[in-house]
Amino acid sequence: LAVLGVDLRNKLYATLKSMFGFNQFRHRQKMAITSILKGHDTFVLMPTGAGKSLCYQLPAILSDGVTIVVSPLKSLIEDQTSKMRELGIPCEQLTSELSTDDQESIYTRLGALKPDIKLLYVTPEKISASGRLNSVFFDLHKRGLLARFVIDEAHCVSQWGHDFRPDYTKLHTLRERYTNPKVPIVALTATATPKIVTDARNHLGMKDSKLFISSFVRDNLKYDLIPKASKSLINVVEKMKQLYPGKSGIIYCLSRKECETVQMMLIKSGVSAEVYHAGLNDTTRVTVQRRWLANRVDVICATIAFGMGIDKPDVRFVIHYSLPKSIEGYYQETGRAGRDGLPSYCLMLYSYHDHIRLRRMIEEGNTTTGVRMMHLQNVLQIVAYCENVSVCRRKMLVEHFGEVYDEQTCRTSKTPCDICDRKRKNPEAIRLFDVSDEAKMLMQSLPRMQKTTLKYLSELYRGNLCKKSSEQAMRLGHTSLPFFKRGQGMTEQDALRFVRKLVVEGYVYERLYSAPNQAAAVLAYAELTESGRAIASGAKTAKVYLHIVT
Ligand code: ADP
Repeated sequence: LAVLGVDLRNKLYATLKSMFGFNQFRHRQKMAITSILKGHDTFVLMPTGAGKSLCYQLPAILSDGVTIVVSPLKSLIEDQTSKMRELGIPCEQLTSELSTDDQESIYTRLGALKPDIKLLYVTPEKISASGRLNSVFFDLHKRGLLARFVIDEAHCVSQWGHDFRPDYTKLHTLRERYTNPKVPIVALTATATPKIVTDARNHLGMKDSKLFISSFVRDNLKYDLIPKASKSLINVVEKMKQLYPGKSGIIYCLSRKECETVQMMLIKSGVSAEVYHAGLNDTTRVTVQRRWLANRVDVICATIAFGMGIDKPDVRFVIHYSLPKSIEGYYQETGRAGRDGLPSYCLMLYSYHDHIRLRRMIEEGNTTTGVRMMHLQNVLQIVAYCENVSVCRRKMLVEHFGEVYDEQTCRTSKTPCDICDRKRKNPEAIRLFDVSDEAKMLMQSLPRMQKTTLKYLSELYRGNLCKKSSEQAMRLGHTSLPFFKRGQGMTEQDALRFVRKLVVEGYVYERLYSAPNQAAAVLAYAELTESGRAIASGAKTAKVYLHIVT
């Protein structure tokens, strides 16, 4: 700030107070704003709710000329422009919905000697499609009035992200077109996986940008996980009704149908609920969102179509009725809870089988092999997160973004995750077992078996089979396999966790088949991966550990 001079520093605080009504900057905001005002390319990585918008809105007010903000969704643009107008900041939006006359009127205002617009929000397709808009930008640039480009939700540029938007890939033209002098670029996102950040920086031509990262730890969110069983959602809803009567929540579901089923169940339990998914038309979606924002409906049963840019401060719970697509997705979706800083609850209803549904969607999807592999990898990572019973959930989430986190912080916090809570109550509760030998035996046996499910493997491992499976096992000689009964005394769940661990660690792969005569049903049969084969043959050794809650 010293570089900016006392005058500007005072102006910074004065504007923060007079225009936004805040007294203090939040973590990293001031540094990011300083960098932006100095004209550096700036990359801002902050979790949802941290206050990214201020980082470019305040510089926009203090800079000469117009700041162009590219934002992926009309609803986001709508939200931001109405906020800016409320604050008295001259702001306009250019989206495909605007009439030609309205667009022309904005172009004329931008062509004025001293444009009376400080912030102009545009959708990315406007930038790639409109020659007219580009000539307006060129004219501003020539006159030194193009303050900077801001790319909101910059992760949308990366194929590796969960929100890839093809129109975003054209944004590299901004750096290429607006040179001499270069127009600074500011990129903002709440998606912090290093791969996506690098990808976005490269793509936008801002490799050397200053990077401002604030912590991704959300202290006020309690992360919890319970197995998904037929009654679990009803029980959870009853609990939510007691804890947060009449408060806002989101229940994330995988499909439109699931949204509707969950909604019906909620309504039957006396909770006001609506659905939100890509199958609804735009008007209905906007109405649902507005009703929820205005607290006229409490719970939204939604697919991931619901969320980006939703700034409702008092969301008290986010429940995942189905497995999210990645750790990153889970972090973003749960991140919509507790933006006001008050304690909020994030619950995952976990069923391993849900990952098969996700895998099927990915495998049937129309993407390149690379992207498909990445999505499958993401699913395995979230399965690992859910199967885990020993590592703090906060730690797993934020370390996914490269941040270091001491789980002691979670354990001693007011909102410890389910795992830290358990450890706090009984530090001896979680014990570690070396199951490398059993794992190797199982891997050696697998090629000798056909059409084997993980469930069957876990039953053999425990030596606990139903009558039909038992007869089959005897007939096929599976009861003489070396791993048979090695897990005797284990619970059903732990034995399943053992075999799933081999999937998560990449030794076993479940190949999916459509069940004959049942279009929707999927069968998953276990086989060895390349590393599984290497272990089985003895070419490689590996340690496999299993944590068990006692
Ligand atoms: P993000 O885009 O990072 O998700 P927003 O920019 O929407 O977050 O900001 C989240 C909330 O925090 C908004 O209500 C905003 O007004 C508020 N906010 C931002 N900066 C500050 C600040 N310095 N002091 C107080 N509140 C702030």
